[in-house]
Amino acid sequence: MSSTIGFIGLGHMGGPMARNLLKAGHALQVFDLVPQAVQSLVQEGATAAATAAEAVKGADLVVSMLPASRHVEGLYLGDEGLLNVIAEGTLVLECSTIAPESARKVSAAAARRGIRMLDAPVSGGTGGAVAGTLTFIVGGAAADLESARPYLNAMGKNIFHAGGAGAGQVAKICNNMLLGILMAGTAEALALGVANGLDPKTLSDIIAKSSGRNWATELYNPWPGVMENVPSSKDYAGGFGVDLMLKDLGLAAEASMQARATTPLGELARNLYALHSAQGHGALDFSSILKLYHQPR
Ligand code: NAD
Repeated sequence: MSSTIGFIGLGHMGGPMARNLLKAGHALQVFDLVPQAVQSLVQEGATAAATAAEAVKGADLVVSMLPASRHVEGLYLGDEGLLNVIAEGTLVLECSTIAPESARKVSAAAARRGIRMLDAPVSGGTGGAVAGTLTFIVGGAAADLESARPYLNAMGKNIFHAGGAGAGQVAKICNNMLLGILMAGTAEALALGVANGLDPKTLSDIIAKSSGRNWATELYNPWPGVMENVPSSKDYAGGFGVDLMLKDLGLAAEASMQARATTPLGELARNLYALHSAQGHGALDFSSILKLYHQPR
């Protein structure tokens, strides 16, 4: 069944996600603040919208993929917000990684207008977005998730229902806090071994088959040249930016304070990435955290 989809936010993730919806046969009305991003989708069959409001006109589904909470609240809330324009009953998939509190606020405002909203942050990176193999971590009503499933299947492979509104964001933040910690820990361990005379590839192979193994040693090694086709072997270009990781660790810290939880390693990781960003590395892939531990001679 072909639907009309309003898609807002066509960056590293949103661009390829929109492309996969086009490939699945849907009609897309696309909007981004960057005209080039819109043009590249138009070349593949999407219709350009001059504003976000135009993109959602007559849409059966609205998808947004923006950087952070303030962009999402700015898009949907207030007098100029999209919730004043989107038709009652429409399904909205908000896929950005944002504060659970923001997701709940926007979702409650949507519900007051009879709009069905899901928070559906993703995991799997730009590679997963291009390949259509993302993991969607969904918060909201189970019935709305069932309506969203055909669209989510066009963009992803694994779909989880974490709970009610905001729960998708909570689960996503927990995952990314752990990812930030394990990447820094992996960089630290490899740098320790190399400082003591080991070869980084040999040490990585040993850890990958021992009890310290993890996602970084298996798929995303931070040491340049140990693995092909990962950001560390491409001067840390592409992938998941240091500043986006820093944002997610900040969201974890906020969630921790709100719930009076204890997250000492998450806080330490946040400080390490903040220091790394302050040293001018905010736009590099987050595995470049290795630079804090090891300077190539
Ligand atoms: P990005 O910066 O590449 O893309 C964001 C896009 O939103 C940009 O094109 C920007 O112009 C557009 N935008 C911002 N405000 C807008 C507005 N008001 N109206 C229309 N367009 C607007 O970021 P990204 O890497 O695509 O990440 C998007 C979200 O996905 C973030 O929340 C990020 O944390 C999350 N995420 C990213 C990755 C990754 O590997 N890059 C992985 C998982 C989740």
